[in-house]
Amino acid sequence: LSQTLRSIAPNRRGVLVAAAAVKLSTSSTLRLSSNLPPLASSLYPPISADGRSLSRSSYSRIEPADLLVFADIIGQNHVITDPFEVLAANTDWPRDCRGQGGHVLRPGCAEEVSAILRHCQKRRIAVVPQGGNTGLAGGGVPVFDELVLSLSRMNRVLEIDAVAGLVVAEAGCVLADLDSHLSEHGLTVPLDLAAKGSCQIGGNLSTNAGGIRVLRYGSLRGSVRGLEVALASGELIDCGRVNEDESRLVQLMIGSEGTLGVLTKVTLACPPRPANVRLVLIGCDSFQSVLHLFSAARSTLAETLSAFEVMDAATMSAVSDNLKLNCPLSGSSEFYALVETASCDASGSNDAGKLDKFLECLVSLNHESAGSIDAVISNDSRQFGAIWALRERAFEALVADCGPAGGYMQFDAAVSDRLDMQRLVLATRAEFGQLDCVIRVAGFGHLGDGNLHLVVTADPAGAAACGLWPRVEAFVYGWLARRRGSISAEHGLGWKRSAYLGHCKSPTAVSVMAGIKRLLDPQGILNPYKVLPPSALSY
Ligand code: FAD
Repeated sequence: LSQTLRSIAPNRRGVLVAAAAVKLSTSSTLRLSSNLPPLASSLYPPISADGRSLSRSSYSRIEPADLLVFADIIGQNHVITDPFEVLAANTDWPRDCRGQGGHVLRPGCAEEVSAILRHCQKRRIAVVPQGGNTGLAGGGVPVFDELVLSLSRMNRVLEIDAVAGLVVAEAGCVLADLDSHLSEHGLTVPLDLAAKGSCQIGGNLSTNAGGIRVLRYGSLRGSVRGLEVALASGELIDCGRVNEDESRLVQLMIGSEGTLGVLTKVTLACPPRPANVRLVLIGCDSFQSVLHLFSAARSTLAETLSAFEVMDAATMSAVSDNLKLNCPLSGSSEFYALVETASCDASGSNDAGKLDKFLECLVSLNHESAGSIDAVISNDSRQFGAIWALRERAFEALVADCGPAGGYMQFDAAVSDRLDMQRLVLATRAEFGQLDCVIRVAGFGHLGDGNLHLVVTADPAGAAACGLWPRVEAFVYGWLARRRGSISAEHGLGWKRSAYLGHCKSPTAVSVMAGIKRLLDPQGILNPYKVLPPSALSY
């Protein structure tokens, strides 16, 4: 460690590491091939659920006359029937399930969204709002033949108030594009995630996305100052800039995954853009050491701490085996922590002093643990991007073990006791790791938020033969229920987790949620089969 630190010391004060990380760009359109994923309807309800199978509700099928109405509203060019584009819109990002929708509509403004919904409500046509289609819970794709309502054309940044730090944008703005507009005004979006090249701000709010900045800026919902929403009836509610009463409605819509309304416009409070960003990658021998580092980072880096991510050795080996990305540390470790600092102090002197203190803690922790801690600080933007890629491409690397269809299962768990992040991985590994078909049981996540992504990968045929996935699901959700954890931290419930809502919500809470849904969407046309378990809501 001391050698590593010596080698970076001359640069530490002088070099401003570029803030612009190389981000993973995702596009389900580009990823489509001739191998079709299984139908979502054949996988639903998820394996070990309440045993109820799902059948298509009695929604109207789309007739030629409906297409004429839609063409009248948005123009023929934006009523998409091309099989390739329709297939892309039906297939979710990991390519592990596929809907059977036959049409995609691309409205250009809120009034068009409103007119489409008015017609769908009148005819009782089911609609799936879709943003960048990077969701990991199946929420943005049809289960049966629902109409896909894509927000991708509604991508204008309407207003930036640099003094107040506010942006007003259409919901279809891609997160990275929005951030780049804000950078011209010295601002940034208080949200960052690996899918930023494709996900949209409307999709982010509909899932109340987490990501690597929650530690710094808090949950995204706290930054929302206003929302424009099209209700199932087609009525537009413009909550403008939030006052006390309106904010309750705004908060109801955030995280509702397109089941209560379609977000069309967003007003967001945006912090100043950091001028100085630094990244330290640390290899640790135990999870306890990672927790010590987290405490040290909070106290020494204080307000400059902008991310604290963790990945285990199994995740790092998938990244290097499957993506051939190299970890810049010399040896291998049990855990890897990525610690990022960011500040607006262009001179960097404030940050450097804090970073020095953090590194001193690192050295003494290394001493206590007999030299088993290793660290590297990125000193140029290329290395900065390369280190972030190790973490940001972790999920992609794990899915590549055996492919998406039947080859993996991922969980997005929230726990209050940070040690549970490791306990859950260890317990799952002890239960299933010895089975011949299992390849890896890996964990990574946002340590700052107690948010774990647990991924089990296995040979699909072997997994099917021994009924692996239902057993893994029952085990993990049962474990989380006993530890009072949550079955979804940031990815939402979609249809993949909806049947398990009862593991973290009481029957009364579920029935209140169903009541709100019925009130706002009496015909059930908005994103059916998602969020609520089939037993809680039938139309
Ligand atoms: P979509 O996938 O299109 O839709 C998601 C849900 O929102 C659906 O239910 C859909 O119906 C609804 N929806 C979309 N737009 C609207 C709208 N305008 N109005 C109403 N409803 C709408 N998520 C995290 O939280 N943190 C992470 O760190 C993270 N990392 C990721 C890394 C990778 C590589 C990938 C592929 C995904 C990651 N995700 C992460 C998941 C995903 O990117 C987020 O859930 C994101 O917020 C989804 O946005 P989207 O525009 O792609 O929405």
